[in-house]
Amino acid sequence: MSTISRALAALFICAASVASVHAADEAVLNLYSARHYKTDEALYENFTKATGIRINRIEASDEQLVERLKSEGAASPADLLLIVDAARLWQAQQLGLFRPVESALLTDRVPARFRDPAGNWFGFSYRARVIVYNKAMAKPGDVATYASLADPANKGRVCVRSGSHPYNLSLISAQIAHLGEARAEAWAKGVVANFARMPKGGDTDQIKAVAAGECAVALSNSYYYARLMRSTQAADREIVARTGIVFPDQNGVGTHVNISGAGVLKHAPHRDNAIKFLDYLASNDAQRYFADGNNEWPVVPSVVVANPALDALGKFKIDPLPIADFGKHTAEAQKIADRADWR
Ligand code: FE
Repeated sequence: MSTISRALAALFICAASVASVHAADEAVLNLYSARHYKTDEALYENFTKATGIRINRIEASDEQLVERLKSEGAASPADLLLIVDAARLWQAQQLGLFRPVESALLTDRVPARFRDPAGNWFGFSYRARVIVYNKAMAKPGDVATYASLADPANKGRVCVRSGSHPYNLSLISAQIAHLGEARAEAWAKGVVANFARMPKGGDTDQIKAVAAGECAVALSNSYYYARLMRSTQAADREIVARTGIVFPDQNGVGTHVNISGAGVLKHAPHRDNAIKFLDYLASNDAQRYFADGNNEWPVVPSVVVANPALDALGKFKIDPLPIADFGKHTAEAQKIADRADWR
């Protein structure tokens, strides 16, 4: 063999071995995400800078991502699923989509109540289910508790989205955990009896209906209200000026919270990279970006977010019920919503 053909042969062998490198060794992470916030760009870029791992993102709604994973099955290229609400994480877990992760860093940094004990998923930010009230129509004391939403004193005054939505299913699940099924059902029926109108739209629509005086009070996730607080639009400023928010049950068990969370998928081709990304999400910097991007609170207790809306909302007592416990009651919560006619 000439020197040139020897060199060519060596090159060929080299190229062949590169091509045969297993997908698992690629510096790539395939992320299926239901998040779509501008600040997340910095989150992903910083991870790539620190690790050299490139992130391919598929962004869609929580339901679409779960459907896609179901249909892709074992052939799925996805490594990580990032979605919101314990009810949805629990559903993905029931479908067998995750493979549990053991990470000393994650169990150390993410409080036990914000993650699945078996390591199927981990929460990285939390949000509160708050009550928004019209300042001209209600006082904070009228809605100091979730129970007050079912109080006959609030008849014809309550707006809320569908009871089948994960945000409300998780709230009903928490009621079941605290009160038992019978009392939780009585509560749901009481809420429905107090409706100002039939459920329609999302949480922001309920806030707008409160500002417009269509209802006196409404349930909403905290970040929708915080987003309006940070808006520069005159119409949004007006909504905030006309309304206030209450963190329910501050003299009781505390306010119901839920999470944005992620889990490593069972068929992940780049499992190690996915675990690295979860570890990264628990880091101080990533915690700030992740929580701030959607006006949520970081799960790592030592991390502080500089967010004027969250500062204005202040500290509150959190219902200490473990997030993973909601899943146990989700199916019953759906039945209760149906029986209560909370459509
Ligand atoms: Fe939401």
